[in-house]
Amino acid sequence: MSVTHAPQTADVLARQDPELAEILLGELDRQSSTLQLVAAENFCSPAVLAALGSALANKYAEGYPGARHHGGCEMVDVAERLAVERAKSLFGAEHANVQSHSGSSAVLAAYAALLRPGDTVLALGLPYGGHLTHGSPANFSGRWFDFVPYGVDAETGIIDHEQVRTLARTHRPKAIVCGSIAYPRHIDYAYFREVADEVGAYLIADAAHPIGLVAGGAAPSPVPYADVVCATTHKVLRGPRGGMLLCGSELAERVDRAVFPFTQGGAQMHTIAAKAVAFGEAATPAFSAYAHQVVANARVLAAALADEGLVVTTGGTDTHLVTADPAPLGVDGRTARGRLAAAGMVLDCCVLPHADLRGLRLGTAAVTTQGMAEKEMARIAALLAGVVRGSVESARAREEVRDLVGGFPPYPA
Ligand SMILES: *Cc1c(COP(=O)(O)O)cnc(C)c1O
Repeated sequence: MSVTHAPQTADVLARQDPELAEILLGELDRQSSTLQLVAAENFCSPAVLAALGSALANKYAEGYPGARHHGGCEMVDVAERLAVERAKSLFGAEHANVQSHSGSSAVLAAYAALLRPGDTVLALGLPYGGHLTHGSPANFSGRWFDFVPYGVDAETGIIDHEQVRTLARTHRPKAIVCGSIAYPRHIDYAYFREVADEVGAYLIADAAHPIGLVAGGAAPSPVPYADVVCATTHKVLRGPRGGMLLCGSELAERVDRAVFPFTQGGAQMHTIAAKAVAFGEAATPAFSAYAHQVVANARVLAAALADEGLVVTTGGTDTHLVTADPAPLGVDGRTARGRLAAAGMVLDCCVLPHADLRGLRLGTAAVTTQGMAEKEMARIAALLAGVVRGSVESARAREEVRDLVGGFPPYPA
């Protein structure tokens, strides 16, 4: 088994630094031998990993293609132009910026492009699945802007659209943010656009999670509706860890300047090359099939978990995300997560709209990339419920997980 799956570096590392190589192999073994249900994670391709491990990592490239502050950018300019063209074509966007180091820095750039400190912004509240960058006091967003949170209906878990409109009319925000770390349903971008237009606000779609489904045609696109779309490239989209922004031509220059020089320095050219690879992969029929399977798998998982007695938020899902309250099985989310971790089932806790205690958040992107389908989702749900309930011992569950994932190696030798 090679350490990095990047041909240029694979065995060099093992020879030169066995201590670190051992750690990398240990992580690869962990990813391959346990069940990856963290909703924000995936297995990017060996081609993406190869670009990440390439000599582009050496290159300084402040600025944009054709207008760099450093010499020697001939090749990386071509790489960045390719990434931008592929992103534009994949999402039907007039402009793409592929330099953001992460989803959070993409959101920061969107705010920098459109807002001034002290401006009012409407966003999904953190207790309902808003991201840290949507007004957390621990984050720049909460400190520099005046966030007004909207919520979800306590019964249904669906975004309270009437409240969005009412708060918009009352507070006249400069921007409205739609997007979440845990909301399992499609977002009604046309509705948010309508409200934004009514009060003269910008609409920022933080599509960090669903952008991969959008790429595969398995979820509605925010691009025709939002002034700026922020996204990550490493979640369902299955590229390298990073962010990007999409917008219309009229905001292109403001968005570019908000990324560099306002919030970042040199672009990470190896990551941008890897983004280009991922955009290329995402434009294929195979990726579209994957995206649709991700949703089909999540639907089966949600239904099976509900059958096992968990309370599934919104009663199901439209996406790769499932959030559920394990309380009817006798434990809270934190306890459940601990038991599941011991059994080799890796997932997160999340806030729940209807409860004070935490629930479980699962995603089907990684397991779908591995090749798992409906049958395996049913098996995962049964095993998960058994472990949470305490009716399946963790040692036995761990064996079952090994057996299950053994048939679906993420990086076949
Ligand atoms: C994941 C996520 C982010 C942040 O992405 P990072 O790359 O972790 O900074 C921002 N917003 C939403 C809605 C997300 O889901």
